[in-house]
Amino acid sequence: VFTALLGAAAVSGLTALLLVLVGTMNVLLPPDTKFGIVFDAGSSHTSLFVYQWPANKENDTGIVSQALACQAEGPGISSYASDPARVGESLQGCLEEALALIPKAKHHETPMFLGATAGMRLLSRKNRSQAEDVFAAVSRALGQSPVDFRGAELLTGQDEGAFGWITINYILGLLVKYSFSGEWIRPLEETLVGALDMGGASTQITFVPGGPILDKTAQATFRLYGADHTVYTHSYLCFGRDQALSRVLAELVQASTGLLIRHPCYHSGYRGTLALASLYESPCAPAAPPDLSQNLTVEGTGNPGACVEALRKLFNFSSCDGREDCAFAGVYQPPVQGQFYAFSNFYYTFNFLNLTSKPSLSGAKATIWEFCLRPWKLVEASAPPGQDRWLRDYCASGLYILTLLVEGYGFSEETWGGIEFRQQAGGADIGWTLGYMLNLTNLIPAEAPAQGWAQSF
Ligand code: AMP
Repeated sequence: VFTALLGAAAVSGLTALLLVLVGTMNVLLPPDTKFGIVFDAGSSHTSLFVYQWPANKENDTGIVSQALACQAEGPGISSYASDPARVGESLQGCLEEALALIPKAKHHETPMFLGATAGMRLLSRKNRSQAEDVFAAVSRALGQSPVDFRGAELLTGQDEGAFGWITINYILGLLVKYSFSGEWIRPLEETLVGALDMGGASTQITFVPGGPILDKTAQATFRLYGADHTVYTHSYLCFGRDQALSRVLAELVQASTGLLIRHPCYHSGYRGTLALASLYESPCAPAAPPDLSQNLTVEGTGNPGACVEALRKLFNFSSCDGREDCAFAGVYQPPVQGQFYAFSNFYYTFNFLNLTSKPSLSGAKATIWEFCLRPWKLVEASAPPGQDRWLRDYCASGLYILTLLVEGYGFSEETWGGIEFRQQAGGADIGWTLGYMLNLTNLIPAEAPAQGWAQSF
C-alpha cells in the first residue's frame, strides 16, 4: 500500500504532501506483525492456534486475530500416558503448519504455549508420574522448535472458565470501547456475555451474576483495561461429553445382569461392541466389576425419556437439597443472567441438530426427542459425510446438554433465548486459548490507555 501510494503521489505531483502524511500517520506504514502460538491439549484431541497482531498497536483492544487453527493428529496428549515418547510426533504436523505461516525472521520472537485441560487433570489424579512424563515429553519436543517456547502447563478448571470468558468478551469487543471522540469508555457489566464450554472431560460455566457471589472460591477477579471484573466460574470435572456418556454406559452395565446392554440413548437398530475395561479407565468411572476382560454388546432402544432418566443420575441433584443457589453435585451457583455463548461440544451437537438458530427451549427439546426416536438406519442414511465418528452419540449429547443447561444450570424458556451456540466469533474460534495468550503476553493492559476514561462514566 505504501509503495503504491508513493507512486501515485509522484505521478500527481503530491509527493510533498504525502511525505508529511507519512510522517504523522502510522496508518500508512506497513504494520509490523507479531505472532503467538497456543496448543490446546484437550482430553479428546489437541488443537493449535496461531494468533497475530500489529506490533504498533500492542495494547489496543480487539486487534488480535486468528491466523490459523490446526487439528493435531491422533487423540489427546493424556492418551500417550504409556508411551510418552510418541506425544511429540503427534504435535509436529500442526507445528510445521504454524512455522510455514509465520515468517522465518520472526520465529525466534514468537511465543508458544501449551495448555492442557481436563484430560491431563484426570491423568494427574490417576497417575501423577505418568502425567509428568507426558509434560516432559511435550516440553522436550516443543522446546526444539525455532520459536520461543514458553512451556507446557496444566490449567485449572477456573483458568479454563475465566480465559474462555475473556476470549469471547475480547472478540466481541466488549471489554473496552473507544468512543467517537477518542476516549476510552468503560464497558457496562450488563453487556458482557457469559461463557459455556464443554470439552470431552469437563464443562465450564462463567458469567457476571446479577447479585453477589456468596462462595468466594467460585469467584475470579481480573483487571482489564483499567476495569475490575468479577465473574462466577465453575468447572465440573467428569461432566465433559465423553466422560458423561461413558459414565452413563457404566451405570447401565452396573444395573444389568449380563453383557448385553440395552441403551436408551442409542437409536433403535443400533448394535455395537466395546471392551468392558474401556469404561473404567478414568477416575470419573464408578467402581469396576471384577472381570474386565470381556466385551460388551450394546443395543440401542431409542427411548429419550429413559435416556434422560439415566443422564439425571449423573448429576446428583438431590445433593442440592432444594437450595436455590445450588446447581448440582452440591455446587454453589448464582442464578444465570444475561447473554451466553455456548461453544465446543455445545456447538458441535447443536449445529448437527440444526439448533443453532435460536429455537425456543421447547422447540429444541422437541427436535432432540424426535431425533432420538429415529431408527439408526435412517440416521445413518441421512448423515452428512464425515460424521461417522460422532453420529451414535448426538442423541445422548443433545439430551445431556438439555439436562445440564435446564435442570443443572437453571436456564428456563425465558433465559434460553440468551444462549448463542457458536464455534466462532469475529473470525476466531471461541475457547480459552486466546484469553490465555492475551494474559501471558500482557496484551490486555491492566490499566486504561494513557488518555484515561471518558468523563461520562
Ligand atoms: P474438544 O473441544 O476437542 O475438547 O471436544 C469437545 C467434545 O466434543 C469432545 O467430547 C469431543 O469428542 C466432541 N467433538 C469434537 N469434535 C467434534 C465434532 N466435529 N463433532 C461432534 N463432536 C465433536
